[in-house]
Amino acid sequence: MVVIDGKQIASKIYDDTKKEIEKLKTKYNQSPCLATIVVGNDESSRVYVKRRGKICEEIGVISKVYDLLEDSKEKNVLGLIGKLNNDENVHGIIVQMPLPKDINEKKVSGMISPEKDVDCLNPLNLGRLASNDETFAPCTPKAVIAILEKSGIKIRGKDVIIVGRSKIVGRPLALMLLNRDATVTVCHTKTENLEKHTKNADILIAAAGSPNLIKENMIKENAVVVDVGINIVNNRIVGDVDFENIKNKASFITPVPGGVGPVTVAMIMKSTVEAFKRSKV
Ligand code: NAD
Repeated sequence: MVVIDGKQIASKIYDDTKKEIEKLKTKYNQSPCLATIVVGNDESSRVYVKRRGKICEEIGVISKVYDLLEDSKEKNVLGLIGKLNNDENVHGIIVQMPLPKDINEKKVSGMISPEKDVDCLNPLNLGRLASNDETFAPCTPKAVIAILEKSGIKIRGKDVIIVGRSKIVGRPLALMLLNRDATVTVCHTKTENLEKHTKNADILIAAAGSPNLIKENMIKENAVVVDVGINIVNNRIVGDVDFENIKNKASFITPVPGGVGPVTVAMIMKSTVEAFKRSKV
C-alpha cells in the first residue's frame, strides 16, 4: 500500500511553476495575476483564499482578492467580473463558491471571460471539456488526474467509479477520465446500491462531501482510492473515506488532509500561468 503524498506532488509543481514565472517575468516585464472574488461570510472560503494568497506570494503570482459583503447585489458582482475581464493585468479569475442565495450562480459563472476562467466555472469551458479540449479544465479534477499520472497509475481501460456528480468535481472529472480512455461510472445520492458500484472500481474517487461514506467492505482488494472530500468532524478535517480501515486493502490511497487539497492549489497556480501565457499569444 502506498499513501500518496499530495504535498510532495504540489511542491514539485510549485518549483517548476516558480521557475517558469521568473522566465516569463523577464520576458514580458509582467507577472501572472489571479483575481479572486469572495462574496459573503463563508468561513471556509476565507481560510482557503487566505492560504492560496500566501502561496501566490511565494511563487510570484500576484493575488488580488475582492472581498464583497454578504448583501452585495448581483449586478455589482457581475460589474466587477466585467471590469476584471477587461483588465489586461488580470489573467485568471475565480469566484469563490458558494455564493449568497440571492445571487444567481449560473449568471455569475457565465460572466467570467472563458479565457480567464482558470477553474472552469463558465459552462462554455465545461462544453470544451466534453469535446476533449482541456485547455480550461477545473483545478480539482486536474489535481486528481495529476495524482494518478504522477503516481504511475494506469487509467486507460480501467473501471473508474466517481462518487459525486457536481459541476466542479464529479462531472468534469468523468469527462477528463473518458478523455483518457477509462470506463467511467458516476454515482450520486440517487444511486441505488452504491456498494455494488464501488466494489467494481479499479480506481475509486470519492467526492461526495460525506465523512466515512466509503468503508472497507465497499472497495475491492488493491483498488486505488482517491479521496477528494473535505469535511470537518469534531474540529478535524476528514475526507469521505474511512482511511484507517481501508489503507491496507488499497494499493494506493490519498490522505485527507495532505492529498488532493494541496495539489488542487498547485493546479490553480499552474492554470493561472497558462492563462497568462495564452494572453501573450
Ligand atoms: P457537492 O455538494 O456540490 O456535490 C456532492 C456530490 O456528491 C453530489 O453530486 C451528490 O449527489 C453526491 N453525494 C453526496 N452524498 C452522497 C452519498 N451519500 N452517496 C452518493 N453520492 C453522494 O460537493 P462538491 O463541491 O463536488 O465537493 C465534494 C467534496 O469535495 C466536498 O467535501 C468538498 O469540500 C470537497 N472538495 C475538495 C476539493 C479539494 O481541493 N480537495 C475541492 C473541491 C471540493
